[in-house]
Amino acid sequence: MIIVMKKNAPQDQIDRVLEEVKKGELKPMLLSGTERTVIAVIGDERLTDIKHFRALLGVENVIPILKPYTLVARDTKENNTVVKIAPGISIGGKKIHIIAGPCSVESYEVQKQTVDFAKRVGCTIQRGGAFKPRTSPYAFQGMGEEGLKIMAKVREKTGVPVCTEVTDPRLVELVDKYADILQIGTKNMQNYSLLKEVGKTKKPVLLKRGFSATIDEFLMSAEYIMSEGNENVILCERGIRTHETTTRNTLDISAVPVLKKLSHLPVIIDPSHAAGNRDYVVALSRAAIAVGADGILVEVHPDPEEASSDADQIIDLETLDKLMSELKPIAKAIGREL
Ligand code: PEP
Ligand code: MN
Repeated sequence: MIIVMKKNAPQDQIDRVLEEVKKGELKPMLLSGTERTVIAVIGDERLTDIKHFRALLGVENVIPILKPYTLVARDTKENNTVVKIAPGISIGGKKIHIIAGPCSVESYEVQKQTVDFAKRVGCTIQRGGAFKPRTSPYAFQGMGEEGLKIMAKVREKTGVPVCTEVTDPRLVELVDKYADILQIGTKNMQNYSLLKEVGKTKKPVLLKRGFSATIDEFLMSAEYIMSEGNENVILCERGIRTHETTTRNTLDISAVPVLKKLSHLPVIIDPSHAAGNRDYVVALSRAAIAVGADGILVEVHPDPEEASSDADQIIDLETLDKLMSELKPIAKAIGREL
């Protein structure tokens, strides 16, 4: 449930409400970004007497949440959450951000060349996997910490922040040292111990939808992160598994308006893993912006055929340039900036 306090409710009334919530073995969380004090109550609410809370001094309203998630719910927070990544870079506001880079970090030269070009054409965040959750144990598993160091060095030279995946709760501390955004991959969307661990940091988390996850399951995973105190969650639709085999996954374009209706969190689209084929990446990106996504996560490499993972779906630098120029008028037409 959500407890909305009266506009000028004094601190002692707020404290009393917080105390009452804790008595019931529930956890109160003060929500930021709202005009008045709003307290989200999380935990098993079945035994909660809403009338009791309504009667407390300073309480304007108590709203039961019918969905299984609370903190991520739109009912909890009317305004869109804007996640601050670095000075001047926030996801979820008017500006759309393009996160671009290779699937895996390969070398300083490739990362730097890609990021230099991407920055020139308007991309604002670099991507690259240092720890790769590959389907085959024999496939390239990533460069590990060496890869993180390469991305950090490119950030030092270019000022472009780093988005990279963390695959294991034991690696959160290490990846957190280098990354500006902690990415949780599709295969780990329901790795609850990993979600809790990134939830304990204050770092922005880019949570990818599991390829077989429903929207509610996806939002429950975001709830795991937020329930540990990290409000900086960005949702990423990256294609789901359907009967269709001409693309690697099926991009669920409707996930964007659905998530925007159900949640206040920013939503971005990854057209690369959705398509699994570079021929469709530009078209899906256009659709992503038109449908209201707050950003795109796209795989780019100066020589895609030579990429050490996901070569089929990676676009080259020239195509990234084309993509950016095609997205700009679409963003403008819907009142956004790129
Ligand atoms: C990635 O973006 O590097 C990645 C592995 O994507 P996904 O988890 O969506 O497969
Ligand atoms: Mn990839």
